Amino acid sequence: MSEENFRFCKKCLTRDMMDKDEYFKSLHEMIAAVSEEERALDDLYEDRLSTCKECERLFDGLCAACGCYVELRAVIRNNRCPYDKW
Ligand code: SF4
Repeated sequence: MSEENFRFCKKCLTRDMMDKDEYFKSLHEMIAAVSEEERALDDLYEDRLSTCKECERLFDGLCAACGCYVELRAVIRNNRCPYDKW
């Protein structure tokens, strides 16, 4: 798939209702609220984010392949990278 064909999440309409700081605060609150049962271990989480940071598909915190915020996707233990990078 070429880069032009990637679809980016437009963040629905929530971003229209809050400023960027508030939006990201809300995102980090969601990450913090993930239960221990669902949460990846810290080392695994950091390894995943290191991979994302080096990935050409990372765009403004979003994965261009799946449209997820990578920090939220990576914190869920059973989630996978859509390109099998983690
Ligand atoms: S989830 Fe995978 S494809 Fe998406 S930014 Fe991270 S490493 Fe890249």
